Amino acid sequence: MLKYLYILMVIFMIDNGYLFSKDDKRIFINTSMRCNGQCSYCYLPQLGYSNSDSNINTKSAEEIIKMIEQLPKLTQDTLITIGCFSECWDKYNKLETLKLISYFLKRGNQVQISTKKKINLNDIKEFLPLIKYYGQFIIFESIATISFHDYFEKNTDDVFERLETFKIKEVPIVLYIKPVLKNITIEDLEQYKKYILQYQIRDVVVGSLFTNIPSNESVPFSNQNELFYNPVDDEEIMLQELSKFCNTYRRSSDVMNYYKSRNRSKD
Ligand code: SF4
Repeated sequence: MLKYLYILMVIFMIDNGYLFSKDDKRIFINTSMRCNGQCSYCYLPQLGYSNSDSNINTKSAEEIIKMIEQLPKLTQDTLITIGCFSECWDKYNKLETLKLISYFLKRGNQVQISTKKKINLNDIKEFLPLIKYYGQFIIFESIATISFHDYFEKNTDDVFERLETFKIKEVPIVLYIKPVLKNITIEDLEQYKKYILQYQIRDVVVGSLFTNIPSNESVPFSNQNELFYNPVDDEEIMLQELSKFCNTYRRSSDVMNYYKSRNRSKD
């Protein structure tokens, strides 16, 4: 049995930066492995990738798809997560991201992206007809701080622009409060509540910072054992408080599973 499991792991294992997966359940995809967002808490520098570089070498969606099609088995059930090592919606990656989303929606996969950019309905209009159920494609709009955005996320879209993404109602837009920065993110608790009500936000993820300080759990998108979840107590307070206003989750994959099983229960 163990031998069988090992063989399965080897078959599904892929890790070349652009693609990472441990099994056929989830694959992480990046069209580049650097960013120009300059977030002070970003884990890219800890993995040897720049997060303050405008020289972004983007791989085309066609090249990525070619690699994907060589994978022994990618099922319709494989969760597609785009952009852990890049800003998938910046001017360097957006076009390729759009092509990849269309490709996977056509295949029937569930797709998630996370971003610190504002997304308009117009941006995603072309692939809306490909979506087979509400929740097949989900945007995680990342806002780790409201008041201190200028200091911690120097080269990302303004928070108030990002909030405009929540005007899209055609697909789920999740407020991604991740990472929770100790003593910083929680300062905005009342503001988060206010915007959750104002934009009628239904789903919120409150997630941990990834650092190289070892903990019980390493990140799911790398095998190098260099990045770990580093939760802080503020997360519990935020989860408890925000759950009075919306659905709260600890992981983006929990949101994806929720929408997938909701769709299945309708069948
Ligand atoms: S936008 Fe994301 S990838 Fe880019 S610097 Fe900020 S945290 Fe890092």
